[in-house]
Amino acid sequence: MPTFVRTDKCDGCKGQDKTACAYICPHDLMKLDKEGSETGHVMQAYNQEPEQCWECYACVKICPQNAIESRPYADIVPLGGSVQPLRGTESIMWTIKFRNGSLKRFKFPIRTTPAGSIDPYGGKPAADINKIADNGFFVETDGFRSGDPSELIAK
Ligand code: SF4
Ligand code: SF4
Repeated sequence: MPTFVRTDKCDGCKGQDKTACAYICPHDLMKLDKEGSETGHVMQAYNQEPEQCWECYACVKICPQNAIESRPYADIVPLGGSVQPLRGTESIMWTIKFRNGSLKRFKFPIRTTPAGSIDPYGGKPAADINKIADNGFFVETDGFRSGDPSELIAK
């Protein structure tokens, strides 16, 4: 399901140098139509090539206006459906709209630790420039902690 910008919600990220959706898209698909010459919507973003969309939904989640939703292809799923996440600090609320207009909402937690508390290099040794030419990976250093099966989430 590729993404589409809702023109009733997009504010062009208030005219900043780069919009959030254009910044985050790994496939460089999101574009701001500054003059409105390409879409008829001045200062609003759009997905240039929905058929090339990876459907990663990074743009959907980062949009501060909640203006991007994903819509199914009409030929494979019922026309008119959409999926839209509303990202909070602790969870994402997904709103699923069906063709008949009915709505379903699902809320999923997105983190287990307080925001900003993660230290990605915690417990890892400091970089050693003398090893710059050595083969190997960071995770193979002394800082690597092997997996613990007891920490897996069991069903
Ligand atoms: S991130 Fe959202 S508000 Fe900003 S330009 Fe893109 S669609 Fe519009
Ligand atoms: S879903 Fe991913 S690939 Fe598609 S437009 Fe958004 S950020 Fe780009």
